[in-house]
Amino acid sequence: MAKRALVAGGGGFLGSHLCELLLSKGYEVVALDNFVTGRRANIENALKLGLKLVEADISKNFKVEGRFDEIYNLASPASPVDFKKMPIFILDTASAGHRNLLEIGREQKARVLFASSSEAYGDAEVHPQHEGYFGNVNPVGARGCYDEAKRFGEALSMAFHRQHGVETRLARIFNTYGPRMRPDDGRIIPNFFTQALKKQALTIYGDGSQTRSFCFVTDLARSLFMLMQSSEVMPVNCGNPTERTVLEMATIVNKMTGNTAGIRNLPLPENDPKVRRPDTAKLERVTGWKPEVSLEDGLAKAYEYFKMELKRNPSIEATVFQ
Ligand code: NAD
Ligand code: UDP
Repeated sequence: MAKRALVAGGGGFLGSHLCELLLSKGYEVVALDNFVTGRRANIENALKLGLKLVEADISKNFKVEGRFDEIYNLASPASPVDFKKMPIFILDTASAGHRNLLEIGREQKARVLFASSSEAYGDAEVHPQHEGYFGNVNPVGARGCYDEAKRFGEALSMAFHRQHGVETRLARIFNTYGPRMRPDDGRIIPNFFTQALKKQALTIYGDGSQTRSFCFVTDLARSLFMLMQSSEVMPVNCGNPTERTVLEMATIVNKMTGNTAGIRNLPLPENDPKVRRPDTAKLERVTGWKPEVSLEDGLAKAYEYFKMELKRNPSIEATVFQ
């Protein structure tokens, strides 16, 4: 009999790619989403391939028919624009919402994976970040609602594991990019491509020396699936360890798109992490995962996608803070 998976946040950027991966492996897949930040267009293809959709907010009462072997909780607004717009909703989603999914896991003896984040490390003082590092998070800063939501979600998973024996998995996801990102969600890749396609200067917050490590979305979805199959309960970093400065990314995007408008420096937002690179030794050890898509190939795919998005809706603009 086919395995059944529930993907909360299945209508989002990462969730929709994960649904497609699971369908390709023969799973019956149900996406659970309230489309607060997701888009129906993300799952058009998956729906044709047999994906079922349940529209609900995971932090409220909801009903999903049938039993599941695997529950992936990717439901959470995830971009800095969302941190400003809906901080309480973000906290509710990782607390009451994640608890609802853990209760299903407990009842049905299903595995439950929580999509945590590199933000659990905050403005890290250890580099690269390994899973044993407890982090440097400002709970009352602009990112506090998201960082603490992720840390709480991790703690809640461990509580259900220790108290009820639920088979929990914790994925600390690092910056991921690719088709289906919202062009106006304010993150670096959508901003740079949207600006470059409009022949605008790319906005760099601070001097651009801060670093991030970018993982292509299909590689990331694969790491979540592989982690779920493993027996590792403690947190595991999921991401690509190839690190670039923000300035390097701007130079690559301007070159790739032939944009001659250059760059524009703006003040650095509060608590913006200075460096970020996952130590992926544990992920490789417990799952055998390795990245398959190079930054060059991934950015070329992202470029094609943002071109299409802007063709569909030419009035889209990058979301720039300040
Ligand atoms: P996204 O906004 O595209 O996807 C999140 C999805 O969850 C959306 O479809 C949204 O409508 C849905 N959702 C949010 N709250 C919900 C709720 N209460 N009930 C039901 N559905 C809800 O974001 P994404 O980039 O695909 O991120 C997916 C997950 O991965 C998130 O948990 C995010 O925190 C985590 N993550 C992402 C990244 C990244 O680089 N994209 C990095 C670290 C962690
Ligand atoms: N960033 C930037 N210009 C932009 C958008 C983002 O310089 O138009 C910077 C941002 O300050 C951060 C990095 O790019 O240092 C990654 O930002 P993003 O919001 O994509 O991810 P996160 O900070 O959550 O890792």
